[in-house]
Amino acid sequence: MAFKFLNLLSTDLGIDLGTANSLIYVTNKGIVVNEPSIIALEGDTDKVVAIGNEAREMLGRTHKNIVTIRPLKDGVIADFEATEIMIRELIKKANINRMFIGRIVIDVPSGITEVEKRAVRDSAERAGAREVHLVAEAMASAIGVGLDISAPIGNMIVDIGGGTSEIAVISLNGIVEHASIRVAGDEMNQAIMQFFKKNYNLLIGEKTAEQIKCTIGSAMPLLEEIKAEVKGRDLVDGIPKTIEITSVEIREALDECIQTIIEAVKLSLERTPPELASDILDRGIVLTGGGALLKNLDARMREDTSLPIHIAEDPLTCVVRGCGKILENFELYEKVLLKQRRT
Ligand code: ADP
Ligand code: MG
Repeated sequence: MAFKFLNLLSTDLGIDLGTANSLIYVTNKGIVVNEPSIIALEGDTDKVVAIGNEAREMLGRTHKNIVTIRPLKDGVIADFEATEIMIRELIKKANINRMFIGRIVIDVPSGITEVEKRAVRDSAERAGAREVHLVAEAMASAIGVGLDISAPIGNMIVDIGGGTSEIAVISLNGIVEHASIRVAGDEMNQAIMQFFKKNYNLLIGEKTAEQIKCTIGSAMPLLEEIKAEVKGRDLVDGIPKTIEITSVEIREALDECIQTIIEAVKLSLERTPPELASDILDRGIVLTGGGALLKNLDARMREDTSLPIHIAEDPLTCVVRGCGKILENFELYEKVLLKQRRT
């Protein structure tokens, strides 16, 4: 009786534990947390100083007693303890009493090992969940986008996140073909940083590089090319300075990353069974993840693959909305969840 009562009161959570951003979806409510996947800890005590946006502000600006960590940086769990802290703190941010957490559906990057999956599951359980289910990121993304994943039809999803780009072909509730490469948003930022070092002897921070990418970065010529001012430190005389750059230059800096992603997509298409490949030829590819927002990426992919390319609506939230849909239609989607392996 008491248990039933708790069930009625309990809240289910969808969690997208991304390499760049983490989101929480509360059933019948929507997205309640959307923050960068960063925590700041006090160096000697490991006390949490800040998480999310607040921790992001500290990036590159900390003193030696504060460390900022991105627990999932390259699509693998770099730091188990930090991951656990992040899950716990995110749930705190969602303002949900741990007594009342029912199910949690949490997506994991496909590259992670069984041990890492176990760690995510345990962390979510320790945060108070009565039941924890894992789902592959590409699957959650496809559900969030609204693709009919149960039909005997091939759908291709390309999710370009921070640490990894995930390419998946989905049909009949399963992932038929899958690839994950460590070239995505972070690598693009690195490419921009390198570009400034090499061409302007200018040292810029990662945050600045990301800002440049999001404002003037592109994958194909723009109708009107854009200019921007960039602040950094001159590597020769060590003095801060400002230079003006154009979207043409940034496009060149990003080209290698974009080519790598497109090559991986082509390789996946080659490996896809012919019937499903012909579905994709008709239906095209859906782009999700923050990288889908890079200007003209869709046009570039259209040109390079000759396939229809669609950018998902609100690409940064597809995965967590997918987790939410799974929870809200649990019986329907139960079969797409990852099977739990006892280790
Ligand atoms: P993850 O799932 O790995 O957490 P996200 O799907 O949240 O990643 O995407 C984050 C990445 O998307 C970051 O590298 C960010 O710089 C990039 N991004 C966000 N907006 C844009 C934009 N307008 N143009 C290009 N890249 C973007
Ligand atoms: Mg993601």
